[in-house]
Amino acid sequence: MSGSYIVGKGLDRTYGEGEGATVALRGVDLEVARGELVALVGPSGSGKSTLLHLLGGMDFADSGSLEVGGHELKRLDDAEAARYRRERVGFVFQFFNLVPTLTALDNVALPARLRGLSVTDARARAARLLEEVGLDQRSRDFPDTFSGGQQQRVAIARALVNEPELLLADEPTGALDRGTGAEIMSLLLELVQEHGTTLIVATHDEAVVDVAARVIHIEDGRVMRDERLGASRS
Ligand code: ADP
Repeated sequence: MSGSYIVGKGLDRTYGEGEGATVALRGVDLEVARGELVALVGPSGSGKSTLLHLLGGMDFADSGSLEVGGHELKRLDDAEAARYRRERVGFVFQFFNLVPTLTALDNVALPARLRGLSVTDARARAARLLEEVGLDQRSRDFPDTFSGGQQQRVAIARALVNEPELLLADEPTGALDRGTGAEIMSLLLELVQEHGTTLIVATHDEAVVDVAARVIHIEDGRVMRDERLGASRS
């Protein structure tokens, strides 16, 4: 077994069958060390989200192997895969995906509740995370009263509430103006450094690419280039 935190080998993923089939990933190899910050870049439709879904245990490769933290994801049964998604992985999406009928505090507390914490413990954790993202004064407010950047802060707090080892972000700045996107990225970087979380961000955003220590270029389902820039994180 390799010492890397993530080891993917020969990952293939095709959606559909026959004439309508779309090949999303073709023989992707990937190794990521624990605590690394990786930007995944490439044109729309190149396979970035598909790769994030495989890493998050939301979807499985048709062939190849993918180990995260020493566990081969395709060997997990349904219950184990659900636990993996809930406890080891956090997700941040382009459009925040907050629950509109829950307050900011209860949005952040939700994954901790799903993990089995009591309401009191889950809310206490959520309150700490909202403080870390600078929104402790807004904890009782509902998502529709927040700006896009504030909603993404709540979503980041939610993604971190179960202290995941791995944070996956799919175009997290894609729905934000440039300045707000830059603020969100620096907050993400600061938090993953504090929490020791491995971060993989799929993005078009040059500002994200500029701060990433490593940039993996994907085109047409293949890794075309893997650059280690030696920037940031220190
Ligand atoms: P990216 O995130 O780089 O935009 P995706 O991983 O979303 O790329 O998509 C890769 C390819 O797979 C694209 O051609 C896309 O249309 C296709 N695809 C993605 N998800 C599905 C799906 N659920 N069903 C069918 N095709 C899909």
